[in-house]
Amino acid sequence: MKSTKAYSAISETSALAASTIERRELTDRDVQMEILYCGVCHSDLHQVRNEWRDSMPTSYPCVPGHEIVGRVTGLGSAVTRFKSGDLAAIGCMVDSCGKCPPCLAKEEVYCEKSAVLTYNSPDRHTGGYTFGGYSEYIVVDERFCLRVPANLDPARVAPLLCAGITTYSPLRHWKVGPGQKVGVVGLGGLGHMGVKFAKAFGCEVVLFTTSPNKIEDGLRLGASQVVVSKDASQMTPHTGTFDFILDCVSADHDVNAYIRLLKRDRTLCLIGAPEKPLAVASFGLLFGRKRLSGSAIGGTEETQEMLDFCGKHGITADIELIPIQKVNEAYDRLLKSDVKYRFVIDLASLRA
Ligand SMILES: [Zn+2]
Ligand SMILES: [Zn+2]
Repeated sequence: MKSTKAYSAISETSALAASTIERRELTDRDVQMEILYCGVCHSDLHQVRNEWRDSMPTSYPCVPGHEIVGRVTGLGSAVTRFKSGDLAAIGCMVDSCGKCPPCLAKEEVYCEKSAVLTYNSPDRHTGGYTFGGYSEYIVVDERFCLRVPANLDPARVAPLLCAGITTYSPLRHWKVGPGQKVGVVGLGGLGHMGVKFAKAFGCEVVLFTTSPNKIEDGLRLGASQVVVSKDASQMTPHTGTFDFILDCVSADHDVNAYIRLLKRDRTLCLIGAPEKPLAVASFGLLFGRKRLSGSAIGGTEETQEMLDFCGKHGITADIELIPIQKVNEAYDRLLKSDVKYRFVIDLASLRA
């Protein structure tokens, strides 16, 4: 085991603080990476504060972070796809069974046996729990290590590993494309990537926000129209006109107001995870045979495809770079949606 500096929380009420964790020795198939940047995802905050205690209770100490970009500094003897000095990335997963139907389809996130998340999952190598990217170094199986396009700013790439793939995957799965009208609900870390991708896929993009002060930004990011969702007179004209709606909201909200906006047989996909169950009016789905669905992150193959797509189209996240010492402050600001649109930790601050 190797000691590594990290920021961790020791209980659901404690702030993140400097600590030391252990990383495993490299196996034949492992890549060791010096972490350069790690995005701050809303899931990090939920997990650190044990807000998903019913479905995914938190084990402490908790080192969050699953939007990781780093430099390869060590290789197991059987690693073939990376060499020392390569830029590489890790997203939300670091292991899976590799044998079940979703794994064989490279949709490891839906592994039926043992999907291992980048943090707070049982770790078969150490017998403990996985630790995420708010740390100096990480060791990961080559299968879950991704290539980073050389033309993109690595700090701005970090959020693509969760916010990026989480929005890219459902847009691809439901085959949104040119000529379609696509709604994106909520302009935060997820929503701003959703708008960029839907626009890059050739759709007419409408952004829904509760904040009139986000109109200008929504248009800048690629929406052709921004609707203030609290204003019924702005919502009503869109009734029954959407081919697809990507709901990126992590707070409690009225999903029925958006189901109403779908065309017949079309889909609303949830990618945010509100703490409490949402209320859904059946009639809203019955009349129009509409679908309410969900989507989680994306598999390794699709994540690589997304990164390559971003390289080709020059797409990255809008970020605010912070030293790790400001991460607790960043969490407070995240709760107030006071970030455009993703905090990214510069891990040089942890090494300093
Ligand atoms: Zn995330
Ligand atoms: Zn599996």
